[in-house]
Amino acid sequence: MPLPIVHHPDYDAGFAVNHRFPMSKYPLLMEALRLRGLAAPAALSMPEPAPPAWLKLAHAADYVDQVIACQVPDRIEREIGFPVGPRVSLRAQLASAGTVLAARLALKHGIACNAAGGSHHARRAQGAGFCTFNDVAVAALVLLAEGAAENLLIVDLDVHQGDGTADILKYEPRAFTFSMHGERNYPVRKIDSDLDVALPDGTGDAAYLERLAAILPELSERRHWDIVFYNAGVDVHAEDRLGRLALTDDGLNAREDMVISHFRGRGVPLCGVIGGGYSTDVPALAARHAILFEVAARHAADY
Ligand SMILES: [Zn+2]
Repeated sequence: MPLPIVHHPDYDAGFAVNHRFPMSKYPLLMEALRLRGLAAPAALSMPEPAPPAWLKLAHAADYVDQVIACQVPDRIEREIGFPVGPRVSLRAQLASAGTVLAARLALKHGIACNAAGGSHHARRAQGAGFCTFNDVAVAALVLLAEGAAENLLIVDLDVHQGDGTADILKYEPRAFTFSMHGERNYPVRKIDSDLDVALPDGTGDAAYLERLAAILPELSERRHWDIVFYNAGVDVHAEDRLGRLALTDDGLNAREDMVISHFRGRGVPLCGVIGGGYSTDVPALAARHAILFEVAARHAADY
């Protein structure tokens, strides 16, 4: 089976190339996937913008309305890191719906990835840290509301702590949040996940993979998971502009293989989202995000 990939051209909100948020990584990731033979039309699905009712499962209704109307207060836009105009608003609605769609495809086919998503700093009340809506929290709550899943695991390996996801799912016992991140990376004030592992600056491949290998079985022993959402942020890479860890491309490859084979081996459907990545060399960054898809495609083919 080809890996189901969810994508939309409007994931790219068309920022200036020198913007702090490397928006061009979305089209460049699709280009990288095409070059790797992973983006055949049969593999691709396109979301519709998320209905407000989905977004309001995870976020305060007034904030959702503000984003849809492009009337987000300046104070919140400053915390997000960019103004919420029509393209950013649409992109946030599409990326959230994209993760819902990828989760449904994962439940059906065992594994699927959204070529966006992982906006894990968006809290219930508002967005923050380049994140407008928290797509994974939205998707988790949609699946729960629909009865499509009862026990959800979130494995967040972006270099930044998953504070927004922890905030939104804090009182949802059916969802378990795990974040492994750089201790000294944003956010300064972290919000406790169900399980957090904070790593020191400069943690490289070997120590990182050792911690992860020890934790995955522990997560699987907690419960039978109906689905795992995997935030595969590549800002753990040594060349990332924001991340303080020091993984290599080989380390990323090994990480994706470790996570995906762990859950595939236990028959747990996996929904991958790309998470963060902030290199100024955007083609190199897109190639780093493509590793998730390459590894996932290998495992999808084995299914
Ligand atoms: Zn990040």
